[in-house]
Amino acid sequence: MPVDAPPPAALVANIFTTQPQDGALSENVECILHSAAAKQELIEYPNFPQPTPRSHTNPLIPALLASLSDDKDNNNGEGQGAEVSAPYRIAEVPSKGLGMLATRAIPQGAFIMSERPLLLGPQVQHLDGHNMQFTATATARQRQRAIFTEAEKNLRIAFARMDPTNQKAYMALHNAHQSDGSGPITGVMRTNAYEVCRLDGQTYAGVFKDLSRINHSCSPNTTSHFDRASLSMLLFAVRDIPSGAEITSHYCGLLQPRAARARALKPYGIRCACAACTDHAASDANRLRISRVTDAVPAIVRWAGSPALPDDLLLRPTLALLQVIEAEGLEGSQAYVRVLYHAVLILQVLAVARGADMDRLLLARAAKWATLRGCRSEGEGGSEAQFREERERVMAAALARAGSAPEGGGEGRAME
Ligand SMILES: [Zn+2]
Repeated sequence: MPVDAPPPAALVANIFTTQPQDGALSENVECILHSAAAKQELIEYPNFPQPTPRSHTNPLIPALLASLSDDKDNNNGEGQGAEVSAPYRIAEVPSKGLGMLATRAIPQGAFIMSERPLLLGPQVQHLDGHNMQFTATATARQRQRAIFTEAEKNLRIAFARMDPTNQKAYMALHNAHQSDGSGPITGVMRTNAYEVCRLDGQTYAGVFKDLSRINHSCSPNTTSHFDRASLSMLLFAVRDIPSGAEITSHYCGLLQPRAARARALKPYGIRCACAACTDHAASDANRLRISRVTDAVPAIVRWAGSPALPDDLLLRPTLALLQVIEAEGLEGSQAYVRVLYHAVLILQVLAVARGADMDRLLLARAAKWATLRGCRSEGEGGSEAQFREERERVMAAALARAGSAPEGGGEGRAME
């Protein structure tokens, strides 16, 4: 703190609260909230507090078990609906410290786990000190230090309220900020926190015992979203994860180029050497293209209703784009779900207009779309009503194509 500055006034009276207190002590979340309105928003969320979803209660699990029972290596006699142990363990990963490993094959779309944060609070990284008073001469570094000091003071209060088991788990997490002025509790928060939700207009972050152990990948095999009702983060596989493979997440925006990712990963002490970071010219171009994916439904409606346009006009580029996203390992992106949706609409038109040839292609993409959409937070990318309305619009336009002979595009088989 600058010597001539008044002490940073605690303009915001923080609220320290333990939520939701509905189960085992270790399931409690210590929360630092910036306002009474934030607390109200937290606890008045519909159906709050729900128990954390467990693997054996997740609707995806029967499918998971069915797929496991076909796999000789993993068939250990568990029946459908049986309680299954967690499909992961925390273990040493070569050159990365601890990480999360799959203990059995996890199919695309499967629910992996849910976890409540040990601690939830305003995001330290984004604190800009607007609530604190500084002299005009205070340098950026002095301001930063003052913010960290204030953050540590608040975090220490919340930490003291934590269950001892949780305190131990918290302090065992990696701290990449040991020499930049962060206090120890702040350092762990800055290294391990996930953005979880917005309350009263402010972004909150959570530190997790197991989820915070997941290492970064520029091509992660999971996606997660925060479930406000259970106050827990849900983790899903976005592609098949083989038994023994590392389960990965992402710490930065994945559609930005390598240089920007490297800058964003630096505070975590990560120098990523993945394929996308090594051979980055091609990958950067692919990711830029993926970042520009927009709503193609109007174009699909126009094409469906114009029999003069070739059958494969949109299908070919759409399937090619899916391949690009898969090659980049970005099945967890919103763009992938959106392009799958476009593929499903296009194939539905062709199935109506050209018959059964398209069914197999359609069913595979539709299943994948439904599976991956189920991994994302509810309503993200569109509601059921919106999908229904769009499908009806596309199919109505497709009637014109159904009465016409195929134009160009050739056989469905050639479009795979
Ligand atoms: Zn990378």
